[in-house]
Amino acid sequence: MKDLKELIRPNIRALKPYSSARDEYNGAEASVFLDANENPYNAPNNRYPDPMQRELKNLLAPIKKVKPENIFLGNGSDEAIDLVYRAFCCPGADNVVAIDPTYGMYQVCAEVNDVEYRKVLLDENFQLSADKLLAATDEHTKLVFICSPNNPTGNSFCRAEIEKLLTSFQGLVIVDEAYSDFSDAPSFLSDLDAYPNLIVLQTFSKAWGCAAIRLGMAFASKEIIEVFSKIKYPYNVNLLTQKEATAMLRRHYEVDRWVKSLMEERSRLIDEFMALPCCEKIYPTDANFFLTKVTDAKAIYDYLVSRGIIVRNRTTVALCRDCLRITVGTRPENDALLDALRNYVG
Ligand code: PMP
Repeated sequence: MKDLKELIRPNIRALKPYSSARDEYNGAEASVFLDANENPYNAPNNRYPDPMQRELKNLLAPIKKVKPENIFLGNGSDEAIDLVYRAFCCPGADNVVAIDPTYGMYQVCAEVNDVEYRKVLLDENFQLSADKLLAATDEHTKLVFICSPNNPTGNSFCRAEIEKLLTSFQGLVIVDEAYSDFSDAPSFLSDLDAYPNLIVLQTFSKAWGCAAIRLGMAFASKEIIEVFSKIKYPYNVNLLTQKEATAMLRRHYEVDRWVKSLMEERSRLIDEFMALPCCEKIYPTDANFFLTKVTDAKAIYDYLVSRGIIVRNRTTVALCRDCLRITVGTRPENDALLDALRNYVG
């Protein structure tokens, strides 16, 4: 890996960050707060939240088996995706490389930040090749995006290929593990010390059942986390989110129960879906959704909408012609889908 200083945009390296009132006061005992121009009435919502989310990070660290200094928390993992561009990619000069198809926000953020986005097509089994990704890089490539399990294909990638990328690429490798709780493949979190160029993304939006509170996590070296903290909005995770997440972490055993039952329901749904006349193929999945090739994705999508059932039509996505992406719901929700499709006349 190149020296991190070389990877950071020069203006970000030189930036003197905004120092908020609550940054400067470092948590010593105090009872009178006249520092932040807040309203003294309407507690607790009158006070700015902890800009560094210390309590939350201290609870999360042992669960994820990392140190608090290796954690960045943001407004969904979408915030972390945007921050990696803003921290490392010079608009109009640098580029990033990503697998194709994958999660759409990597490209949207590239375009917002005026950064060239280079796509490398997966093979027909939706597997990636580290060599092909490396071949697409040049001296201006700052980031490579991998999503494992991948959205929308659902599969995890071969670990050795990702390791090859981490060892050979001179920039940063982002491994988005939004769906890893639904997979038996081990997370890359335990490899943070081995790979200084690794950034792992996870989220409270999927297995944790908290999409509404908007809380995403990035895990990386202390030096990379410091760059994120320097450029984020001062109070990027609001108090209500911090409180709700803290409560959720205290009952994290519930997440294991949800994941177990969703994985059981996933295999039942797939078995029954495969028997439908409109189903041509179901791709292997490690996520809480599956990708299926159907007889006519647009017609089936429209038919399901008319029955009040919404799935995701992925037919225009690379390698996904006539494919629908279907999230695993509760048993009654999945039965409603199956019943509707049994009555579909193509
Ligand atoms: N990464 C992937 C692969 C996703 O599919 C999603 C959301 N669908 C996200 C990140 C964004 O998640 P968040 O809700 O944490 O912003």
